[in-house]
Amino acid sequence: MAVPKRKTSPSRRGMRRSHEALGTEAHAECSNCGELKRPHHVCAHCGHYDGREVAPAGRTLKSIVRV
Ligand SMILES: [Zn+2]
Repeated sequence: MAVPKRKTSPSRRGMRRSHEALGTEAHAECSNCGELKRPHHVCAHCGHYDGREVAPAGRTLKSIVRV
């Protein structure tokens, strides 16, 4: 089995991990209430989608849609 000749230095390890940072999640502002929501999903805050209310506002949407 091939074995590394030298211990990986903290500098080398850091250089390898320079591409491992997490990116930002996709988000958009709700056109009705302005709250941040996932694009192409019903707003979890006010229950609106595409300019109309599709789920009762104030209730948890868990039973209706997956947010
Ligand atoms: Zn909203």
